[in-house]
Amino acid sequence: MARRTKILATLGPATDKEGVLESILAAGVNVVRINFSHGSEEEHLGRVKAVREWAQANNTYVGVLMDLQGPKIRTACFKDGIKIQLNNGDSFALDADMDELSGTQESVGIAYKTLPQEVKSGNVLLLDDGKVVLEVTGVEGNKINTVVTQGGPLSDKKGINLRGGGLSANALTEKDKKDIFTAAKAKADYVALSFPVSGDDVRETKKLLAEAGAHAGVISKIERAESLVEETILDIIEESAGIMVARGDLGVEIGDAQLPAQQKRLIKLARSNDRIVITATQMLESMIENPIPTRAEVFDVANAVLDGTDAVMLSAETAAGAYPQNAVKTMHDVCLESEKNPIAKTSHHRLHEHFREIDETIAMSTMYAANHLGVKVVAALTETGKTAMWMSRMSSNISIFAMSDNVQTLRKVTLYRGVYPCGIEKSSADDWSQVNETVIETLTKNEVVKDGDLVVLTKGMYKDKSGGTNVMKILHVGDVNY
Ligand code: PEP
Repeated sequence: MARRTKILATLGPATDKEGVLESILAAGVNVVRINFSHGSEEEHLGRVKAVREWAQANNTYVGVLMDLQGPKIRTACFKDGIKIQLNNGDSFALDADMDELSGTQESVGIAYKTLPQEVKSGNVLLLDDGKVVLEVTGVEGNKINTVVTQGGPLSDKKGINLRGGGLSANALTEKDKKDIFTAAKAKADYVALSFPVSGDDVRETKKLLAEAGAHAGVISKIERAESLVEETILDIIEESAGIMVARGDLGVEIGDAQLPAQQKRLIKLARSNDRIVITATQMLESMIENPIPTRAEVFDVANAVLDGTDAVMLSAETAAGAYPQNAVKTMHDVCLESEKNPIAKTSHHRLHEHFREIDETIAMSTMYAANHLGVKVVAALTETGKTAMWMSRMSSNISIFAMSDNVQTLRKVTLYRGVYPCGIEKSSADDWSQVNETVIETLTKNEVVKDGDLVVLTKGMYKDKSGGTNVMKILHVGDVNY
């Protein structure tokens, strides 16, 4: 049985070591994440090239997601690179007028110069992912005076979050705009947008991607408190190919206690609006240093699968950890076992809803028929992957093969839960009358089906017409005529 939940793994120094990239891809990574927060364009393009070469050599498809850094708000640096220790009750200032390299035990500069105008007494600032907490006691010009309410070490360029959100920094920085061109060069399948606060941020990203000639889908990282407002999140979801539950920054802004409920809400919202959802950050954090996970981490991955996530993400576990291959294998095993639970297989999706479009109706009817008839697989002939996306929003244990001669589409569906890319020859795909035969032959050759199995096939009357799916056909493998 194939795993339905997809694994997204971040590349970095650990996967650059001899043989490691190949080992994690062979262990089941479906999509790689290239993080623009670290590394040069040359490094990014080199990693993408290595992934694509491996996929081609192994006759498979691996998606590429390139993650824009966004406006991470950080402290400046300390004098001589020192690390200071802040204790509860200490006074400490964040000073926009201070030189970049002159932080001391009493104060440090900030790269985000308008921060003093955006905070007031009583606000809580979280530094270094919440390890140090400061309460604002007052603002004098460009200097924010605070008292330390949770002490800890502080060193150069640590992230700053405002509890409850509300900072006005633009989602797209000048660096992001440059990196969008690199994503276009790399023919990235997805670009992740960090810190969007509204659908407008997504619209602007799509415009810049189009101008750069990129075909990447936008994955909006949900990591700001204000993006959780119902109207805002719905607009962001509508505009995006998918969302990422970016639990790191989101947890710092809203407090970790609210994260589990938000994760469930966001997964549900994305799925019910026909969008992808990725669950990210600290899923197997202890495996950065250890060969096995904690039980709590196993439960975390399993719960995301049961919540209905399309993909689970590995960050430092693969990018910088000591056991990248173990981390992927652990995720693979936990996903596979969790998917056996009846919750993961049964669906009430759209049962009582009106369908808006013909291809949507075919997709929904196909999954209803497939689940009830007990067919072996669903084969969706697709130009853009849209039919497969609709199908994959319904929980099922029946594999959905997205069959296409469009490589971009085949790589995009690597993120869809329960959907497997399957390339078909261009020549046979062009001859639409022969397509049923081609589908069965391809699935048989790949040992997906054998004589006697039932396959539900969907297709349109005209190839290359996106949204044209209007046929559902149930085929018996081994019949003389299809
Ligand atoms: C997160 O905050 O959870 C996240 C995925 O973002 P980053 O790129 O900062 O790791």
